Formats: sequence, structure tokens, C-alpha cells
Amino acid sequence: MGKIDGFLLYDRDLPLPEAVESRLKHYREFQSLPSSELLNHQAARCMDCGIPFCQSACPLGNIIPEFNDAVYKNQWKKAYDIL
Ligand code: SF4
Repeated sequence: MGKIDGFLLYDRDLPLPEAVESRLKHYREFQSLPSSELLNHQAARCMDCGIPFCQSACPLGNIIPEFNDAVYKNQWKKAYDIL
């Protein structure tokens, strides 16, 4: 579990997509990369639910709470291995 009160401290926050008028002019990614701080805060929001719907609903069987914890701790190799 990332941060025990992370969901109280940080609101849900998503990277902003590029404006439609602009993204229609190319085929590149249109989501901006989130900052390290944003990733840390969003990973901290995971409550490690007793019945983690993210995990049971994931078609790949990813262990999302453990992934979030690794991201929160900036352990990117571990996060990668979890996926
Ligand atoms: S659903 Fe998954 S990602 Fe969301 S808080 Fe629960 S364990 Fe964390």
C-alpha cells in the first residue's frame, strides 16, 4: 500500500490530453506524460482494497495494488516486473 492516507491527501488527477484541433494534425501520442510528482501522488491514492476490483477485473491479471505501491516508492524495475 502506497500511503495509508493518500486517498485523503490527493485528489484524482489525470494528465491533460492535447486539444483536439491540434491532435488532428499528427499521429503522435496526445496524452502528455505525467510528472514524477503526479505519478507518486496518484499511486499513493491506492487503498489496497480488501477486494481489489482493479485486480479481479484486469484481463491480464495484473496485481495493481502492488504495482501502485512500487510506483509510489519509485521502484520502477519492481513495478515493471509486477506487470
Ligand atoms: S481498486 Fe485497486 S487501484 Fe483502486 S484503490 Fe482498490 S486496490 Fe487500489
